[in-house]
Amino acid sequence: MIIQHRGQESAGISVFKNGGLQTVKDNSLVQFALSNEKIAHLNGNIGIGHVRYPSAVSKGVLNAQPLTVTTSFGSMAVAHNGDLTNHFELKAKYQATGTSFLTQSDSELVAVVLGKYMVQYGDPIKAMKSMMGELEGAYALVILINNRLFGVRDPYGLRPLCIGEIGGGHIIVSESAAIDALNGTFIRDVAPGEIVEIIHDRFVPHQSLIQKHKAYCMFEWVYFARPDSVLDGREVYDVRKRIGEILARECPADVDMIMPIPDSGRAHAIGFSIESKIPYEEGFMKNRFAERTFILPDQKERELAVSMKMNPIKSTVEGKRMVIVDDSIVRGTTLKKLISMLRKTGAKEVHVRVGSPPVIAPCYYGVDMKSRDQFVANDHSLNDICRIIGADSLGYISIEGLIEAIGKPESELCLACVNGKYPTRIPGEAQRFQSTLNTDF
Ligand code: AMP
Ligand code: SF4
Repeated sequence: MIIQHRGQESAGISVFKNGGLQTVKDNSLVQFALSNEKIAHLNGNIGIGHVRYPSAVSKGVLNAQPLTVTTSFGSMAVAHNGDLTNHFELKAKYQATGTSFLTQSDSELVAVVLGKYMVQYGDPIKAMKSMMGELEGAYALVILINNRLFGVRDPYGLRPLCIGEIGGGHIIVSESAAIDALNGTFIRDVAPGEIVEIIHDRFVPHQSLIQKHKAYCMFEWVYFARPDSVLDGREVYDVRKRIGEILARECPADVDMIMPIPDSGRAHAIGFSIESKIPYEEGFMKNRFAERTFILPDQKERELAVSMKMNPIKSTVEGKRMVIVDDSIVRGTTLKKLISMLRKTGAKEVHVRVGSPPVIAPCYYGVDMKSRDQFVANDHSLNDICRIIGADSLGYISIEGLIEAIGKPESELCLACVNGKYPTRIPGEAQRFQSTLNTDF
């Protein structure tokens, strides 16, 4: 539940008990998919869990994780965060040798490839190193092989993964906030390319032989992760605040107040306010129980959902000149709708400042921004976008400013969705582009 923000489509858990794996999963939020009644019978003392992020290509409970496999070495459960870039190639290769797949999910490949090497070697570490030689792209994994628990992070470190200590045992999880919430102690991040085995009161690291340059996803700090998490040594809240400060220097505005788009633009707006010395105000009330607008299938639905999710606070907004700060613009739907609501409520001027550079290229590493034609920044100038969303002015943080805010060298970051430079090869990118062109995101 603590990392529910990382995926709302489905949730699942697998535990090792009485010599076998037991799994519960469903298409829902954690509190419903894994309700007390549903998991009452799971009382093993070693297990893995997963929340699934909605993806256009693979919905349905069959694709919910953990995915489980039973073969001659026993049982295995796999939970995967990220997208494999050689998914189609690898699947075709395995299908050609007679393997059949039950799901459309690339995560099934992880289970299939690992299962093959487990049968071949019987040794999990050897099997995982061989598996890593075949998988390309983004994968942060937790794996249960019989009663042994492992964490694996791809050689680029694209998706986060860290280790903590809880009550004498250990946990491997995407974000450190989950360790804090369970009263545990953060130990360290799993290093890119590392395999870690948890053996109750200790953990044993193994470095895979695959060496790549690091490519931490910048979007984790900008939008995806919780502000109270520390990812690869950099606290998310602090990075967002610094983004706001740098934005205020790069794109100043003469206004009465700085206002966040809740919740994702809040820390950015605080930084903007501190640097600009212009008061910070909350001008939108957000319905915490509303549906996520980003994943809705059509434009009209998304716009309606935005107005059901946010309502301007009249006394804050009326007659004011304001900067509104959001973490990112993808299609521009959210801001267009919010700005028209602000104008109706009597805002005098609405200036938009954005905490990431313009998103122009798809993400093939697990963040749901997959078709180029959905990005408003792709075929429009800054002035066009400003006009489309109905703002008085528009400013994005620069790529250099973002790198400075994150505080890591550019060579250690993935910035592909804002600069088009992918840290890995993307097999069949041209076909993927074609196949996503007609997708209505
Ligand atoms: P849009 O209305 O398409 O411009 O969406 C931008 C808003 O959606 C931003 O305010 C973000 O907070 C959020 N957002 C951006 N990227 C994603 C993503 N890949 N998945 C879910 N939400 C996102
Ligand atoms: Fe993150 Fe963008 Fe790279 Fe995807 S393309 S991993 S969202 S920085």
